[in-house]
Amino acid sequence: MESIELNQFWEQIKAELLEALPDNAHPWIHPLVISGYDKGVLTVVTGQIMGRDLLRKNHYKQIVDVLKKITQNENSDFNIIYDANAAKSLKKESDKLQKKVAAAAMKEQAMENLSYMQSASNLNLKYKFENFVVGENNKFAHAVAMAVAKAPAQKYNPLFIYGNSGLGKTHLMQAIGHYTLFNNPKLKVKYTKTEDYINDFISNSRNSKDQVENMSKFNRKYTNIDIILIDDIQFIEGKKKTMDQMQHTFDSLYNKGKQIVITSDRLPKDIPNLTAALDSRFAMGLMIELTAPDEDTRFEIIKKLANDNGLVFEEKALRYIAKNFSKNVRELEGAFNKVCAFAEITEQELDLKLAKEVLKCNETENEISIELIAEVTAQYYNVDIKDIKGTARGQKISTARHIAIYLAREITEKSFVNIADYYNKKHTTIMFAYEKVKKEICVNRDLSSAVREIKQALKVI
Ligand code: ADP
Ligand code: MG
Repeated sequence: MESIELNQFWEQIKAELLEALPDNAHPWIHPLVISGYDKGVLTVVTGQIMGRDLLRKNHYKQIVDVLKKITQNENSDFNIIYDANAAKSLKKESDKLQKKVAAAAMKEQAMENLSYMQSASNLNLKYKFENFVVGENNKFAHAVAMAVAKAPAQKYNPLFIYGNSGLGKTHLMQAIGHYTLFNNPKLKVKYTKTEDYINDFISNSRNSKDQVENMSKFNRKYTNIDIILIDDIQFIEGKKKTMDQMQHTFDSLYNKGKQIVITSDRLPKDIPNLTAALDSRFAMGLMIELTAPDEDTRFEIIKKLANDNGLVFEEKALRYIAKNFSKNVRELEGAFNKVCAFAEITEQELDLKLAKEVLKCNETENEISIELIAEVTAQYYNVDIKDIKGTARGQKISTARHIAIYLAREITEKSFVNIADYYNKKHTTIMFAYEKVKKEICVNRDLSSAVREIKQALKVI
């Protein structure tokens, strides 16, 4: 037995002995330390001669019975030695070990408490900083979130994270919660989806005999905390009463010096009918945008998933997935999971061939060609695609042609030369058209809204 096991074994026997032996024997039992256990024979050391003699004389049989009961060994025996020095040093050793065991138990308890708090806070265990891949697109947002997690309510309050769906807003926001709970378990963290807040408010503010009590419970729930994480605030749109209540919650937390973190898929000014009061409150701290990750970051995100799950894969397969799923990390993960599931079910390797086979349809679906852009632009301007591709110089046709060229360069990965081939023109002409539109959309509203609408028709925004 390892010494730590030996000690635990002895602790178990000692507890039984204290149960089995009369109280007057207890003072002799307590100072005993184990020195060995071999082939059923337990050897203990004592620094008290009288203890040795009394235990031997009066309790030998009881001690052996306890041993037999615990070890289920009929050949159990008990041996007690007097050695004052050995007893002292063994006692020291055993105390140390006991402390270790107690510390391990405390740590286990702390981890249990932590996971309890994480679930009480409504946090998803996956959404931690450790699982968040930092790239060019999100390094600023990540750094700010980390700063908030390290020193809540001291710098950026509120922190308003916005960006398109599936780019990691919820993940980053919850990472703040996990980090805080882990490093400062005394702080109370609450994650709430805006829909849940709305529903909670509606059901508690309903007219009833308990309305006052319900509302004060509601207020306690959302303000008796140190960090509130409010996800997807855009869903509050048009809910005037909930907005007023949210303002109340906000002020109450803010005035007590508590951290507020909010996410949204758009800026406050783009949330329909957001009250001016909330709009100005959201702008009081820092607003940061999460944008789509570049290809390398996308690759790292799925590579991390693969590594964390102990999967064997061909890098090219992940490159292929990262290349083809560029707008949304959730979809990127979905594509990766689909290929993994396929590999697992069909017992194939996760390689490029398989990834292509599984995702093929998505790839062609996602691919926007120069041709498709020309078609959609022609439809938008109600002109013939042949004219766009030709040399006609009418105002409408040349605008359509220029926009189609501009979008071909912006949306596809094709070079000016490729685009020139399609239009059967010189590549300098294509470059000129591209630059012209690029400059003009900054100053010409009609042009910029035409570009936006065509992009919408192409489903790239
Ligand atoms: P949002 O709230 O912006 O819609 P989520 O936070 O729900 O997006 O993210 C969608 C999925 O993508 C989640 O599974 C999340 O873990 C993952 N994800 C997003 N960004 C990253 C990143 N930088 N590193 C790792 N995983 C990410
Ligand atoms: Mg989200």
